[in-house]
Amino acid sequence: MPLTDIQTRIEAACHKAERKAESVELIAVSKVQPNARVEAVLNQGHRVFGENRVQEAQGKWPDFKAKFDRVQLHLIGPLQSNKVKPALDLFDAIHTLDREKLARRIATEVQARGACPALFIQVNTGEEPQKAGVLPAEVDGFIKACQGFDLNIKGLMCIPPMEEEPSLHFALLAKMAKRNGLDSLSMGMSSDFESAIALGATHVRVGSAIFGERVKPD
Ligand SMILES: *Cc1c(COP(=O)(O)O)cnc(C)c1O
Repeated sequence: MPLTDIQTRIEAACHKAERKAESVELIAVSKVQPNARVEAVLNQGHRVFGENRVQEAQGKWPDFKAKFDRVQLHLIGPLQSNKVKPALDLFDAIHTLDREKLARRIATEVQARGACPALFIQVNTGEEPQKAGVLPAEVDGFIKACQGFDLNIKGLMCIPPMEEEPSLHFALLAKMAKRNGLDSLSMGMSSDFESAIALGATHVRVGSAIFGERVKPD
């Protein structure tokens, strides 16, 4: 689907929810997409992209950043503590902060650099054993611990279970953010970004709807 169609759908969802269109950031998720598709979206003027692997992003984004200005990269996949340095070199935002060890590593690195990326705490709203993220019962404490490390906690992120109604998870995430005074919500993907916007998403992560089906599995 053309990028402009996605933008139109985001605007319509914002209008319906009585929100400003600028209150939602579209993160174009370019993981495993061929470079030509990514470049086509850059050529249309879009500048905000999401990747789920540090190594893959290191392979393609330095060249794109040299060619296109104002590119903003969001890491939306798991981050290993030993990849914090390259991640902070490349990414403007990290959506997958989910454990204290990682928070400490980021804090140390941020102090050395004097700059902190925007950080989202990933919440495992469905309490799925195989999925990353802080459990709902531990969110409040984890946010406070991160703030104690002087980290720039912007908001919360979730990936709802495949087989469940995503709205319930979006509503839960919104509630947890609100009671902790956080105003950003990274939620909503190709199949459900409109309902995420209805429930307060500020960052939607849309991949296949923009770029087409991923050729390789992610
Ligand atoms: C791949 C991915 C997306 C995008 O998924 P689509 O269904 O292609 O829009 C969003 N968020 C995360 C965390 C992802 O890994």
